[in-house]
Amino acid sequence: MATIDLSLKEIYDLAREVLENNGCDETSSNAVANTVCTAERDGSASHGLFRMPGYVKSLKSKKVKGNANPTIHNLTQNAIRVDGDYGFAPVAINVGIPALIEITKKHGIGVLTITNTHHFAALWPETEALAEEDLVGIACTAYKPSVAPAGAKKPLFGTNPISFAWPRPGKTPVVYDMATASMAMGEVQVAMRDGHKVPMGTGLNKEGELTSSPAEIVDGGMLLPFGGYKGSAISMMIELLAAGMVGDLFSFEAKVEDNNDGGPARGGEFIMAMSPELIAGKNWADHSEEFFKQMLSLEGVRLPGQRRHKNRESQEPRPINKELVDKIRELK
Ligand code: NDP
Repeated sequence: MATIDLSLKEIYDLAREVLENNGCDETSSNAVANTVCTAERDGSASHGLFRMPGYVKSLKSKKVKGNANPTIHNLTQNAIRVDGDYGFAPVAINVGIPALIEITKKHGIGVLTITNTHHFAALWPETEALAEEDLVGIACTAYKPSVAPAGAKKPLFGTNPISFAWPRPGKTPVVYDMATASMAMGEVQVAMRDGHKVPMGTGLNKEGELTSSPAEIVDGGMLLPFGGYKGSAISMMIELLAAGMVGDLFSFEAKVEDNNDGGPARGGEFIMAMSPELIAGKNWADHSEEFFKQMLSLEGVRLPGQRRHKNRESQEPRPINKELVDKIRELK
């Protein structure tokens, strides 16, 4: 694969310029360019520049508003909703997170529901932002159906990611962020492109039979949840939190509404924060550090998020697929 080295500033500027030239105002271009750049910085390449063509398609088709003006609504003393005004999710998240931090620090627990947005990114930026304020964060979102619930031969769930962050004062937080499908659809597509098989259990063909052929999964087939019925239950929970609780589209509803322009479908996001200081008490950080010490004393264990945080330390340019960069430059 031919690559081209881009500095983080060049990545940010490229994303911002493309977004601006395709109808985003300054707030939206900066928010999304920041999301793209932090993904590349941390080595989450599938949610960095790779997503730019999709962002642009959704602006061109007018599915997404490039000048969204999200608004905050107080639901209870512990719960707020941000109406994203049909813009990209990072714009609404930037509005909602400071308010969520405020109510959680006051009341110990807070819920932020995000509606009317288009999410095309990783979820760790939102949970990590909470952990940096010494709060525990949980976030999840649904998407269009591509995963069959356990026992089924038709997709109903999205790849439905969930992220969790635990603060560690003076250290980078522990953060996990994962799709609840056995494998991300993007990775199945890469395996198809490169002529590799995928492990049995990744997905079903269009007849509903197990297959190791990525082409059969992509072409009318479907993914399976990770961990059988257990992952299926977590994916169901995400549908219920990110759509049922938020009051936005379930994956099956998003499929009906979406114009299939290749950009992100409309949907909601559920974000919850908790204050360990208020709930567990003053000793919470030392207590949980003992637990991490135990974990790390076991051979072979690393904490989730460590790979990304290590990538983050490097100020070196990032090698980006050249074909992708050429394609994005043409979108300017
Ligand atoms: P991965 O399977 O790559 O990683 C999942 C998590 O496991 C990460 O937090 C990772 O930490 C951690 N991890 C990996 N290996 C180990 C290990 N050996 N020990 C401990 N922890 C480990 O992620 P996915 O492919 O499932 O998801 C990728 C991204 O896709 C996510 O950011 C998700 O939010 C996003 N996504 C977004 C969707 C949307 O609609 N917006 C839909 C689906 C997915 P580390 O980063 O340190 O490796």
